[in-house]
Amino acid sequence: MTTTPQTNLSPLELARDERLFPVLTPEQFTRITSFGTARSVGAEGVLLAPGTQTGSIFVVLRGQVEISRQSREQEIVVVSLGPGQFTGEVAALTGQQSMVTIRAAAPSEVIEIGRDVLLRIVQTDSDLSDVLMRAFLSRRFELVARHYSDVFIVGSNYSSDTLRIREFLARNDHPYELIDIDSDHEAQAVLDHFGISVDDTPVLICRSRQVLRNPTNRQIADCLGLNVAVDTRAVRDLVIVGAGPAGLAAGVYGASEGLDVFVLESIAPGGQAGSSSKIEIISVFQRGSQATTLRSVRIPRPGSSERRSWSRNRPPG
Ligand SMILES: Cc1cc2nc3c(=O)[nH]c(=O)nc-3n(C[C@H](O)[C@H](O)[C@H](O)COP(=O)(O)OP(=O)(O)OC[C@H]3O[C@@H](n4cnc5c(N)ncnc54)[C@H](O)[C@@H]3O)c2cc1C
Repeated sequence: MTTTPQTNLSPLELARDERLFPVLTPEQFTRITSFGTARSVGAEGVLLAPGTQTGSIFVVLRGQVEISRQSREQEIVVVSLGPGQFTGEVAALTGQQSMVTIRAAAPSEVIEIGRDVLLRIVQTDSDLSDVLMRAFLSRRFELVARHYSDVFIVGSNYSSDTLRIREFLARNDHPYELIDIDSDHEAQAVLDHFGISVDDTPVLICRSRQVLRNPTNRQIADCLGLNVAVDTRAVRDLVIVGAGPAGLAAGVYGASEGLDVFVLESIAPGGQAGSSSKIEIISVFQRGSQATTLRSVRIPRPGSSERRSWSRNRPPG
């Protein structure tokens, strides 16, 4: 079995982790609820299914909402959220597909906040923006670190294509689980289940639906829906090719000047700098500019050479 870090915390204990699942203050709660639409949902009612384009986040008003993920064998409740807490992670901003199920554990009332409104909150309310962005980024970090994903790679660690696929997913912060055919005793059962031979590997099992044999980066991006929210017909003020430090800096400064900026990237943001953990002096990644970077530039949608950022003053097209 591949080593996968598991949490020792129960879903309720995890919900008390203030960094990941903060409880909004009464003022924040009042403000954020004014942006959304109230919804009642019965026990077991599904608010968001895996694979659905993540259009909304949900703020719990009353009741209890559970977030669960699909493991190899079963659905596992990751966290239970109560009043004042909210769902969502990076995919809520980028409009990508949900990796989890969000379901009411008891009759509940929630406020649904759609993506366009969420983007407006992040751009205009710095207090809420800080709380939301910190939670979204921390949650994505935890998903990646714990390999909580609906994406499995079946392959050998000695294969260059396995390494390419792993690098593409890792550099785009997409969690995955590796089933190593050289060391994972469940590998053969997985291969048999999906009718794959060892010669077909590496294989990407995408959302338990699609089986991609040695996929290109473009095919992976399409399968994960990394670019679904990109409007390729919109006319931009500025188009930047390459999301390395130079392209990102140009994008941030263009957006901060009020331009509608579109950054295209063929692999992953960060360029050469994103391929090393040892980078020391690159101004766009310095602490002081990080908040600006995160607020002004969309999280990457790689694979089809598309990545977009937008100005603070204008909603995304
Ligand atoms: C291992 C390593 C360590 C380093 N350490 C340091 C350090 O400590 N300090 C430091 O200052 N510098 C360091 N550097 C150098 C630094 O990373 C580079 O100078 C910097 O990344 C250059 O930035 P850039 O944006 O000009 O180009 P790049 O980083 O090369 O970015 C270009 C981007 O454009 C994309 N692209 C290319 N063609 C296309 C296309 N046709 N369509 C879409 N996208 C495209 C690429 O995928 C890439 O993401 C290091 C580099 C490496 C490799």
